Amino acid sequence: MEYPDRFDVIVIGGGHAGTEAALASARMGCQTLLLTHNIETLGQMSCNPAIGGIGKSHLVKEIDALGGAMGLATDLGGIQFRVLNARKGPAVRATRAQADRVRYKAAIRGMLENAPNLTIFQQAAGDLIVDGDTVRGVVTETGIRFRAETVVLCTGTFLGGVIHIGLEQSRGGRAGDPPSNALANRLRELPFRVDRLKTGTPPRLDAKSVDFSVLEEQPGDTPTPVMSFLGNREMHPRQVSCHIAHTNERTHEIIFANLDRSPMYSGVIEGVGPRYCPSIEDKVHRFADKASHQVFIEPEGLDTHELYPNGISTSLPFDVQLQVVRSIKGLENAHITRPGYAIEYDFFDPRDLRHSLETKFIHNLFFAGQINGTTGYEEAGAQGLLAGLNAARRAKGLEAWWPRRDEAYLGVLVDDLITLGTKEPYRMFTSRAEYRLLLREDNADLRLTEAGRELGLVDDARWAAFSVKREAIERESARLKASWVQPGSPAAEAIEVRTGKPLAREYSLLDLLKRPELGYADVAHLAGEPVNDEAVAEQVQIQAKYQGYIDRQQDEIDKLKRHEATPLPADLDYAQVEGLSHEIRQKLAEARPETLAQASRISGVTPAAVSILLIHLKKRR
Ligand code: FAD
Repeated sequence: MEYPDRFDVIVIGGGHAGTEAALASARMGCQTLLLTHNIETLGQMSCNPAIGGIGKSHLVKEIDALGGAMGLATDLGGIQFRVLNARKGPAVRATRAQADRVRYKAAIRGMLENAPNLTIFQQAAGDLIVDGDTVRGVVTETGIRFRAETVVLCTGTFLGGVIHIGLEQSRGGRAGDPPSNALANRLRELPFRVDRLKTGTPPRLDAKSVDFSVLEEQPGDTPTPVMSFLGNREMHPRQVSCHIAHTNERTHEIIFANLDRSPMYSGVIEGVGPRYCPSIEDKVHRFADKASHQVFIEPEGLDTHELYPNGISTSLPFDVQLQVVRSIKGLENAHITRPGYAIEYDFFDPRDLRHSLETKFIHNLFFAGQINGTTGYEEAGAQGLLAGLNAARRAKGLEAWWPRRDEAYLGVLVDDLITLGTKEPYRMFTSRAEYRLLLREDNADLRLTEAGRELGLVDDARWAAFSVKREAIERESARLKASWVQPGSPAAEAIEVRTGKPLAREYSLLDLLKRPELGYADVAHLAGEPVNDEAVAEQVQIQAKYQGYIDRQQDEIDKLKRHEATPLPADLDYAQVEGLSHEIRQKLAEARPETLAQASRISGVTPAAVSILLIHLKKRR
């Protein structure tokens, strides 16, 4: 049957990529259909109920700055918020929230159901309508045909999904959900390069069976951090603590004794797993000299006793999982509510995509999320937003848009994927960005909201709030620059008390704010009224303190640019280059770049690593 309405954009899959894609397209005024297996699983967190963390919160804030849903849903569902790297510089500071998975999902579903121009339909897509080299629509597994100008595919871990628990296998998209086999088979007929990846999840535990008295408590930060630029603490539900447990030698013995029953070590799983989220059997095997690994015991929500033991993802058989869990102090009597498992799935080589995330082989077809070889909700959401926005622009006959590497982590993510591809699940890190002093989580709105407004992604309420904030930052920075403190004045005495040093000459408040020992609260009141908006004060302070570092980074970038053409000898032994990490050595040895410029574009090869290579080359001469 042909569905009577025609859509501008069809999005397949209601996970993190699909929901951001559908919302972006609908916000831009396109009639959008979100076609998903099950409306109950819209916005479902397949694994850890947590959003953000290092490199990832930068993406969440960029999604938010462009009008997306993930940041607000996190504020509505977050039950423990922390700022990681709080004592380090703002470039690497990252907000992380433990979420109540039910509240998070409800927040996403609410935004989808209330979005104008968006139609939701529950059905599995089984086929694409392809006319020559252009996609024209989608056919569901029950034969309903939907027509559209563009299609965005966001099917996550579902294509050809195989679940492993020990040596037992079953077909599934994730536990409890069917795989997408018809669509996977159809896509394998098209000229895309397809391969397999794997990821895994730990067993879940019943909190009633855990002895929290022997675990270390980890409360959230006070004052509670906020994720969205439009969020506030009043939106947060009740806040709770996480706890920390540890594996021990007995745990590791159990794992070693059963490695032959692990599908990964017995060769049953062929897909490559996530390097930065390894299974416990991987960790114990790779770091055999480590006597213990941390396990974060994280609540799955406020209205459930289920716990997520972060750090013991595993595909070992259930009886071994139970022994592993019960070998850990505090978990001796733990009841497992759901076994851990690994899943293998199809992904497409992202080098077959353009910067817009449109495929090179089929016009008007876009790919976003885990199917492009990434791991994580944040990487998926960011790609979804970009693909949704470009699918909408194509439907309207407009040119594609994407941010550059120096504008956004989203730019870094897409550029890494489409130019370098990936052999393992790709996770975002701050080290992947060359310009990370410019790309902070705190200034994502200043970097992107204006572009989002021009693209039609940012609504009036967000634009008004952003404009007020931006003007307040400019006004306050100008006020501090024009306010002077004279030596011997009461203001100078206050500075002397704070720093232990007398003021030698006249200084503006802005110059004083650049000093490491002084913060906004120390100087802003010394002449005139300080602002009482935390976000404005934070931004004024960071901009003042970081200008010098940003300028220095620019010099470093310019210096590296001058050496871009420097050749890397074909016989260079990267193992001998002192100061490079094992991962970077491995990547360089595999890729064998011909010049420093090529080396610098390899995913994970940082500007610091390029400088080390340059020094090594100079020493060789
Ligand atoms: P998904 O969230 O998988 O969403 C896909 C959506 O598409 C679903 O709604 C599905 O129902 C729908 N769909 C699929 N096929 C069809 C079809 N034919 N028709 C209609 N709808 C369809 N990430 C980490 O960062 N760290 C981890 O440790 C980690 N562990 C994981 C463990 C497991 C077991 C799983 C399953 C995932 C794990 N992830 C992990 C990955 C994380 O869940 C994904 O990165 C993220 O969910 C990807 O979002 P997505 O939107 O691309 O896909």
